Amino acid sequence: MAQLIDGKALAKKTRGNVKEIVEKMKTKPGLAVVMVGDDPASKIYVSSKEKACIEVGMYSEKVILPENTSEEEVLKTIHRLNNDKKINGILVQVPLPKHLTESVIIDAICVEKDVDCFHKYNLGQLLVADEHTNANELIVPCTPKGIIEMIESTGQSIAGKKAVVVGRSNIVGKPIAILLLEKNATVTVCHSRTKDLKAETLTADILVAAVGRPNFITGDMIKKGAIVIDAGINRTDKGIVGDVDFVQCSQVAGYITPVPGGVGPMTIACLIENTLLLAKKGASLKK
Ligand code: NDP
Repeated sequence: MAQLIDGKALAKKTRGNVKEIVEKMKTKPGLAVVMVGDDPASKIYVSSKEKACIEVGMYSEKVILPENTSEEEVLKTIHRLNNDKKINGILVQVPLPKHLTESVIIDAICVEKDVDCFHKYNLGQLLVADEHTNANELIVPCTPKGIIEMIESTGQSIAGKKAVVVGRSNIVGKPIAILLLEKNATVTVCHSRTKDLKAETLTADILVAAVGRPNFITGDMIKKGAIVIDAGINRTDKGIVGDVDFVQCSQVAGYITPVPGGVGPMTIACLIENTLLLAKKGASLKK
């Protein structure tokens, strides 16, 4: 039976560390979350982010714009937040309504406030990072950052391991593959055109699922003793389930993350950590 990687407990610890630092800061870091429309799932995420911010003593601003807001109006909001000294990090909740072009909105966030590393400049920085890069300077996307912390919490070394990532989105699949490569894993990225997915996943010492399909990874796709990380959040009649069939896979894996209570809370804790990092970077630039 696999050992549980407790994302909730790890996230609590991370938030506690951030809180201790924030308490000593004269100017509190600030996070703005922008949401367009009223998608119920996005609403829950935005509220959790606001709650975490307040818990650690940070300034939080939630901007909720109506579904039919024009691109120009959304951009105006982003520009206002770019120029607001109270705000160190800006996050635009995705998905956005269809009439808005995600890349245009994301590109408008100034790179110094791009708290989830959505901007192509920051993603490029992540790609070229090496041993000379100051870890405190680099902004790492929140979900992949949390995933690395969860893998490392097992005490197992990533170096030399075979890692398989299922999914290649810009916010989860691609950046986690880069981070695992940076940690010296041998990485395979799978997607909807992968010919024999099971043959790939069965080779994985570390398996990351970011597919968006409930219970997609089954027990017979897992190598015995593997570290299995489930990024999926899928709403079903039976509640929220991951991309990994937890019941089956926990019989085979060595370590596994639950859903809920795994990658989700760690993503929010990393968002808070990144806001603090950006605030510190901003303060040192002013000196
Ligand atoms: P996307 O929909 O952007 O990407 C899904 C990926 O899965 C694509 O690369 C797609 O391949 C691949 N895929 C789809 N079907 C198959 C298949 N049959 N076989 C192999 N690969 C397949 O999703 P995201 O990366 O944004 O999100 C993934 C999951 O993670 C979702 O459940 C989402 O809710 C969750 N999530 C959780 C977060 C958290 O905070 N915990 C944060 C962000 C996301 P292709 O590219 O070929 O289409």
